[in-house]
Amino acid sequence: MLQIEHKLLEAIESIKYALDQSSILVITDEKGVITYANEKFCEISKYREEELLGSTHQMINSGYHKQDFFKEMWTTIRKGDIWEGCIRNRAKDGSFFWVDTIIVPFPKGSPNPISYVSIRRDITKQKEIERQIYELAYYDPLTHLRNRRGFHEYIEQEIENARHEQSMFATIFIDLDRFKLVNDTLGHKVGDGLLEAIACRMNERLDSKLTTMFRIGGDEFTVVWSNIQSIEDVKATAAKILHIFEEPFDIKGYQISITPSLGVSIYPTHGEDSESLLRRADTAMYYAKESGENHYEIYTEEMENDFVNRTTLEQELRIALKSNKLQLYYQPKINIQNKKMVGVEALLRWNHPEWGFIPPDKFIPIAENSGFIIPLGEWVIRTACKQNKEWQNEGYAPFIMSINLSTLQFKQQNLVEMVADALRESDLDAKWIEIEITESVLINYGSEVIDKLNQLKAMGVHISIDDFGTGYSSFNHIKNLPIDIVKIDRSFVSELPNSNDEAIVKAIISMAQALNLKVLAEGIETEKQWSFLHQEGCQEGQGFLFSKPLPSEEIEKLLHRNN
Ligand code: C2E
Ligand code: MG
Ligand code: MG
Repeated sequence: MLQIEHKLLEAIESIKYALDQSSILVITDEKGVITYANEKFCEISKYREEELLGSTHQMINSGYHKQDFFKEMWTTIRKGDIWEGCIRNRAKDGSFFWVDTIIVPFPKGSPNPISYVSIRRDITKQKEIERQIYELAYYDPLTHLRNRRGFHEYIEQEIENARHEQSMFATIFIDLDRFKLVNDTLGHKVGDGLLEAIACRMNERLDSKLTTMFRIGGDEFTVVWSNIQSIEDVKATAAKILHIFEEPFDIKGYQISITPSLGVSIYPTHGEDSESLLRRADTAMYYAKESGENHYEIYTEEMENDFVNRTTLEQELRIALKSNKLQLYYQPKINIQNKKMVGVEALLRWNHPEWGFIPPDKFIPIAENSGFIIPLGEWVIRTACKQNKEWQNEGYAPFIMSINLSTLQFKQQNLVEMVADALRESDLDAKWIEIEITESVLINYGSEVIDKLNQLKAMGVHISIDDFGTGYSSFNHIKNLPIDIVKIDRSFVSELPNSNDEAIVKAIISMAQALNLKVLAEGIETEKQWSFLHQEGCQEGQGFLFSKPLPSEEIEKLLHRNN
């Protein structure tokens, strides 16, 4: 008998030793006051044994768990049942640790326990790895915002809440306009910097109690606005987001101006699950993009109906180029002083068998976004050169053909060679073409673009700045670039005369003259506009007053008459 008791005591001693070596051990009385703490518990909590004994676990409470969590634990163990769970605690030095815990009430099976033995395992490292995995899966490493997966997780929760409280919330889809341009012209580092700066500025300016931000794709963000009271709330928020983009961003010394297009969907009106809310906000965003960028649209059902999917449009465009269904039209350019034709501008036309004429303003941005602008732009250059040479061969007096180039084409390594090749192929002298670039080339110009412009210029090609006045370039920029012509944007001409624009147009003309540049006014529609420009000494013009863009046969008729 004694031997058995001895063996038993030995076994208990061994078990205790093994437990102390392997686990964190704590024993409390029925009130939760610590009566025993082993060395491992002292180690992890960073308290001395004397500090722990006589205290409750309150001292290591991290505040992480909700009250219900501990309530449920106490209900379980007070009944005499075993409780298991993971607890996050705070050590004496303020650091956090996680323990996988099992609490066993004593005496065994009693409905009124008088002590609790708790055995714990340190799982802090494991939790940290779990957190990292979660972060990787649910967060965007660049902006530290939740990603698309995080968005869906969040929305499902938000829907639960809104259903419970019978409230509404808005999902605002934000897509940056022409972000690809920044990436392609200034490089990915600058692009990434811009995304970070945007996330940071939005975080600063939006009320974090009401809104949560996500980055759900390359240049796509969403903002979820909880508990909205009315559609006016949504409009105010969307306007606020647009406002946030008004100041340029300073990224690695570049002042970058960028605008967003926003689309809004509202729970429960526009959908009752995260997929449909996101899809509809996206549809509304595309709608905003198609209708001029830099504003917001709230989803309506009609958008679904007349909205031709961008991918379909792009596929159709590829088919059109391949099957030779694209066309160039030519708009005469006129000497303002004597109204004689001095050249033409080539403008791309796409007549779709089902959808009819699709304006270039609609399909060129899509081609730019996908990179398809490169083969498309090459086709334009080759076709325009060939056409101009044909007219010369037919005996008409030679004139300059203007060709629009997208900023992205300047990213093309062999742009200069390609132009040279198009000229060679068509046997056209370089002095009979003019490349039109927009101001965005200038705002973001790198030495690469300037090199290319200089090389083109050295070949004898003319260079003009299109839509001048709508961007951010100044004459200071142009001064150092190989530019021949400034084209005043149509928006300044349309209000002429008798408007504020008079002053702007006059200033552009006189500054251009001071720099020895030619000036052309776009979009002249009335005699009055013409006479104002004539009087101010503008050299060239283009517009419906003289002629709309015409197919080549019509241009030939015109040339015939002129001859
Ligand atoms: P843009 O280069 O500024 O071309 C002038 C636009 O103004 C043309 O529109 C022309 O039809 C229009 N226009 C000319 N005169 C008048 C007028 O008196 N009144 C009004 N209201 N409009 C006038 P279009 O052909 O729709 O082209 C729009 C833009 O699409 C062009 O603006 C250009 O930026 C772009 N684009 C056209 N073809 C090409 C191309 O081959 N390559 C590239 N990259 N862009 C192109
Ligand atoms: Mg143009
Ligand atoms: Mg223009």
